[in-house]
Amino acid sequence: MLYEKGYKFPKDIVEKRTSTRRKNGWFKNLNEFKKKISENTASRRIEVREKMSKAKKGKNYDIRYGPKKAQEVRNNISKSLKNHPHYKNGKSMAKMLEFNRSKNGRTYEEIYGKEKAQQIKQKMSESKIGPKNNRYGIKLSNEVKKKMQLNNLGKKRSEEARKHISLAHIGSIPWNKELPPDQQPNWQGGKSFEPYTLDFNDEFKELIRKRDGHICQLCEITQADSERKLAVHHIDYNKLNSFQQNCTSLCIKCHILTNYNRDEWKTFFQSLLKRKYGYEYTPDQKIVLDFNKPIEVLSS
Ligand SMILES: [Zn+2]
Repeated sequence: MLYEKGYKFPKDIVEKRTSTRRKNGWFKNLNEFKKKISENTASRRIEVREKMSKAKKGKNYDIRYGPKKAQEVRNNISKSLKNHPHYKNGKSMAKMLEFNRSKNGRTYEEIYGKEKAQQIKQKMSESKIGPKNNRYGIKLSNEVKKKMQLNNLGKKRSEEARKHISLAHIGSIPWNKELPPDQQPNWQGGKSFEPYTLDFNDEFKELIRKRDGHICQLCEITQADSERKLAVHHIDYNKLNSFQQNCTSLCIKCHILTNYNRDEWKTFFQSLLKRKYGYEYTPDQKIVLDFNKPIEVLSS
């Protein structure tokens, strides 16, 4: 319902409203209000709305009110619409809709011209900075973060996107750059400096890659599509345990992922290899070694 500027509600309506609000409390916004009104009220409202819309369906003003009252109603609507923002600058609703449709698929520059487009963008940008952003202060749960990580695995950014990111990072200092090594967040007690056993040579690594079909065992990107050779990952994180039962091929991105949540990854890869190659592990995740078992190569 639209009202003319300066329209005053009849006193009894105002009083009724005020008393309901006193009863229900005052609300900052509609959502808060919706939360607080009883389910009963909400369902009754929907009922009434449906009833009204049913009664009106397919009936124009002439049928609903009779020709004389209908003209009056039309005049009133037309009068009140003159002050409505949608009709400013002499635009009719039809014209507004047409304009909105014509915006589809066009940039702000194409629609409004360079100068106005700049203003609009500036305004939009300012309206979303800091506390004004509706995501401000919202922290993602670890579960959600992990889902996002897995979702993005193996996806390649476009050349353009990479350029944007690179430009955005120029001159920025990584937050952990100044920390001493033992305070780095993924510090594992100097494990990465442990020497690999003599067995962990190129020949062995190549055998593992071959066994896995030169495919990352997590995101299943092929070595050919990956930027470099697949890494051979130690499932129990012990680099002295270079056995086929403890090694799996991963692309560089997935290999980085395995730096976190180590226990979960250990469980994951052991069950994967058990399923794929029939390797055995004890319930407390120790490797059951079978040195007679040759490394089975899936494909060459
Ligand atoms: Zn991968």
